[in-house]
Amino acid sequence: MERTGILNGRECSLRVREEIKREVEELKGAGQGIPGLAVVLVGDDPASRVYVGQKEKACGEVGFRSLLYRLPEETTQEELMDLVEELNGKGEVHGILVQLPLPGHMDSEAVLEAISPAKDVDGFHPVNMGHLVTGLPCTEPCTPKGIMYLLESYGIEMEGKKAVVLGRSNIVGKPIAHMLLSRNATVTICHSRTPDIVSYTREADIVIAAVGRPRFLTSEMVKEGSVIVDVGINRLEEGLVGDVDFEGVKDKASWITPVPGGVGPMTIAMLLFNTMEAFRKTFE
Ligand code: NAP
Repeated sequence: MERTGILNGRECSLRVREEIKREVEELKGAGQGIPGLAVVLVGDDPASRVYVGQKEKACGEVGFRSLLYRLPEETTQEELMDLVEELNGKGEVHGILVQLPLPGHMDSEAVLEAISPAKDVDGFHPVNMGHLVTGLPCTEPCTPKGIMYLLESYGIEMEGKKAVVLGRSNIVGKPIAHMLLSRNATVTICHSRTPDIVSYTREADIVIAAVGRPRFLTSEMVKEGSVIVDVGINRLEEGLVGDVDFEGVKDKASWITPVPGGVGPMTIAMLLFNTMEAFRKTFE
């Protein structure tokens, strides 16, 4: 069988970031202002701190203005809503990202709904989600958008393929299923109540694994020649591990994403992409 191809998210994201950086330099040269991203972090969740740090760094590297708002764990819902309202009205802020998960006493849905859909660079606002499902123009959520970008960059055919999505979260499973559907794949979504998941994955041409279970997808579960996308980020003592047993699956797949260096870097690249788009739209 042919050698397995690695869907290299690190390389692909670098190309996107270089392109955005070049565009920002042009904007600066033309005195047209620069895109600004406000990131709001509530509390002290260690993983969230890492993600926010990565996003800030990426913004700085492409020349965006990045504003970090670190709020204490005991921040009230009202205080957070007031900040979101303030950011909605701030001209130099083109994108607003409230890092999830929020502390337990907060209503995340209400906070996400309070963000102006035009500044919702995470693509989680119900308006953007609704547009995604109905096929209208929208800001697509970063992780699924990054997956599609990566698959398309490598010329992976989706039309007419059987795609299986493992996981049905609002941030990955559901939106990626709709995006695959919009590319004319035949899509099945599996979740924790799906009996006999292997009967679906074994038939799949494309598997998107987003369950948050280390090495969940094993070699016996996949079809020879399938395309495997690993969204999982599981922090174990041995290091970062995906939802796919990479070593076992890699020789059976035709294409596979590594962890790290697959979907993760694409997510950040798409956040920059969405912020750039939000900035551009302010001139329309
Ligand atoms: P989530 O909200 O916890 O959702 C997990 C989904 O997996 C749920 O739909 C759940 O089913 C399903 N599931 C859990 N255990 C299962 C099992 N044993 N069999 C079948 N389905 C099962 O997670 P998420 O936010 O979508 O994230 C998924 C993974 O991707 C996590 O590891 C996360 O860290 C990672 N992630 C990575 C990025 C990135 O940039 N690379 C971005 C986002 C997330 P039920 O709905 O029935 O509970």
